[in-house]
Amino acid sequence: MNRTITLLLVCGLLTLSAMARSSKKWEMHDPNRPLPSVVVPGDDYAKPPSDAVVLFDGKDLSHFEREEGGPAEWKVENGYMELNRTGHIRTKKEFGDIQLHLEWMMPDSPKGEGQNRGNSGILLMGLYEVQVLDSYQSKTYADGQAAAIYGQHPPMVNACRPPGKWQTYDIFFRAPRFNGLQLATPARVTVVHNGVVVHEAVEFTGPTGHMQRQPYVPHPMKLPISIQDYSGDQPVRYRNIWVRPLGEPG
Ligand code: MG
Repeated sequence: MNRTITLLLVCGLLTLSAMARSSKKWEMHDPNRPLPSVVVPGDDYAKPPSDAVVLFDGKDLSHFEREEGGPAEWKVENGYMELNRTGHIRTKKEFGDIQLHLEWMMPDSPKGEGQNRGNSGILLMGLYEVQVLDSYQSKTYADGQAAAIYGQHPPMVNACRPPGKWQTYDIFFRAPRFNGLQLATPARVTVVHNGVVVHEAVEFTGPTGHMQRQPYVPHPMKLPISIQDYSGDQPVRYRNIWVRPLGEPG
């Protein structure tokens, strides 16, 4: 075999092995899945633009209700709302394609480990979760840490600020499209965490599930946004929440 052919064969084998490595599938919540590297974010604060629908301006929960029905009962003080184990809340209005801005903070005396460290989450359409968790120097499975598309995609990097500091999410979400009972286009999201892109147009594999992937099931084009109350002893705070419905792409 001449040298050129040998070289081509070696290159081919190396490419194939790289492809095999990059396409390796991880089990859901796989503890062996590599954790995103840590990035220190810069300072960020975003006031709502003029066309935003302000969902929380620090004063009251009038734009939210309990997921189970009835008035939202989270604590509101000093310009923020705080989880208090009264249950998940959701917006009274329904949304489909959106730009969503919100800010969240973990208490500055961290307690608990992994998923028990300030667990909340933003459920777009009540179905598609961007995780909220204290992942600052605190480990959990990669697809369950802060800014993960829960159970599906870890963030590209860990851009968490320490507990006691406000953090920002800017979420750009396209709802899934259905053609009758068939999925036509999956839900897609771009997430910016503290000014750092952590997901870029990633596709949801289906609605968020725990320990088990969920298939898409046809649903309306607009549904409420939910915020989870799983925080236990770590009451997560939220402030400055606003949303802008988006037009059709293109
Ligand atoms: Mg969660």
